[in-house]
Amino acid sequence: MEIVELELDDLTATRMTSDELYLTRSQAERISKGALDGRIGLAVDGALADPHAKHALAVELDALLTGPRMGDKLQPQHSFKTIASCQRAKAGAGTGLSFDRHPPRLMYQAPRGTQDILPEDAPYWTYVEDETRRQARLANYGEIRTPTFEETAVFARGVGAATDIVEKEMYSFDDKGGDSMTLRPEGTAGIVRAYLQRSMSGRPQPVKLFTLLNAFRYDRPQKGRFRAFHQIDFEAIGETDPLVDAELVGLQLRLYEALGLRKLSLQLNSIGDARCRPAYVQRLGDYFRQHLDGLCEDCRRRLETNPLRLLDEKRPECQAVLDGAPHSADHLCDPCRGHFEGWLDHLETAGISYTINPRLVRGLDYYTRSVWEVWPPVQGAQSTVGGGGRYDGLAEQLGGKPTPGVGFASGIERIILELKDQGVAVTPQPAPCVYFVSMDERGKRQSFRLAEMLRAAGISADMAFGDRKIGKQLGAADKSGAQWALILGENELANDSITIKDLRGGSEQRTITQRDLLKVLEHGHGSTE
Ligand SMILES: [Zn+2]
Ligand SMILES: [Zn+2]
Repeated sequence: MEIVELELDDLTATRMTSDELYLTRSQAERISKGALDGRIGLAVDGALADPHAKHALAVELDALLTGPRMGDKLQPQHSFKTIASCQRAKAGAGTGLSFDRHPPRLMYQAPRGTQDILPEDAPYWTYVEDETRRQARLANYGEIRTPTFEETAVFARGVGAATDIVEKEMYSFDDKGGDSMTLRPEGTAGIVRAYLQRSMSGRPQPVKLFTLLNAFRYDRPQKGRFRAFHQIDFEAIGETDPLVDAELVGLQLRLYEALGLRKLSLQLNSIGDARCRPAYVQRLGDYFRQHLDGLCEDCRRRLETNPLRLLDEKRPECQAVLDGAPHSADHLCDPCRGHFEGWLDHLETAGISYTINPRLVRGLDYYTRSVWEVWPPVQGAQSTVGGGGRYDGLAEQLGGKPTPGVGFASGIERIILELKDQGVAVTPQPAPCVYFVSMDERGKRQSFRLAEMLRAAGISADMAFGDRKIGKQLGAADKSGAQWALILGENELANDSITIKDLRGGSEQRTITQRDLLKVLEHGHGSTE
């Protein structure tokens, strides 16, 4: 193990061996001041934030190291540790870092906050996706697929302070023609863009759509939250009737129920519309300004941009003030109140229980009236499994005629996490029915011919490749989970026969003619797919 000590005051450090490593000033300052925030994704123990602490704890390294300005000599496998005994730099806040050298890493790794979904995990994905399609069919929602990227202006409409939050997290780039494009941070805006562009207002309203999408946000990765993530998205566009809001809530809850999730709770609220919300926001701001003493610095800052954002606040010290804040549902105009009451009434009709949560406002600026979230039984870092809302102002923001809309989205990663937490078992992909094991080149050729014949007949088949010994091949056959090993040895090849071995130990091994193979598998042995 090689140890390198860095004096962050020097900003550069030379390793005792040949490589050099560089930290930019801002990176060093962020570390030394402990101002380690989500932007570079560092997780630190509080001790590091205190310049006088004896022990400064783990820096989550890969974010730092994959940062764009970082010298390229450090690699993600190096685990950073601070050295407690290291001399503090004269500034007092500087701290020494060491890293252990691990075996050389692969040249390329998936970007931070992304994942590879491997075959063993894929059944969860198809399970969720299949059920989503089934529920969509049951309520007559048609599938739509929109581009992964759109003109940046589709997502960054520059109205409302809350949009900025999404904007800051967007993956935007100029394409070769010089136009600003953005990887979609969510599904709704692209779908409403498509609704307008494809003149879907000419169809019977509402137009009911769903999609399974990938989306992108440059956010601090955490359990169940990724920078490249996936969502289920349902939208009903062109109708104000609160019955649509109720249908979507019912669909969302039924989807979770059908997937096997239990003990979820529906939280909902109405946040009014362009007529009544400004007055409410004003009132809310006034209230908070009268109670600044009970608010943390963060809240006071957010108060200047968007008082609604304070309602999300989780810090205990701010709760007393928040508890006394005025509720949006108490300050709705008549049409909004009527809409809210209609929605609740329809939910009751469907036997859906709910909790009115006056603190629920949702993050995006285009929401109007109905907002809701579905919460898991155990509140973790992320409290919702999915949420939705009405967005009657969005089409207009996108340059279309005023068009009401309502929808919900649910993160697939989040759902799968919840399925695992709740111990919902998902059927793995079935193992192949048969696995061919053969002697030599001639046997291999024959097994390929037979495998293709079985596959064409709907029987799943796999076989050994390369040049392996029979014993090894049988081992692979067993590992594949196949029911039957089909063996082509010297004798079998000599007289056009094939030996069937039950890998699960249910029946005697026997040899049949190759001509009978399909018939035997279909009727005697083995199941067809
Ligand atoms: Zn606060
Ligand atoms: Zn209103």
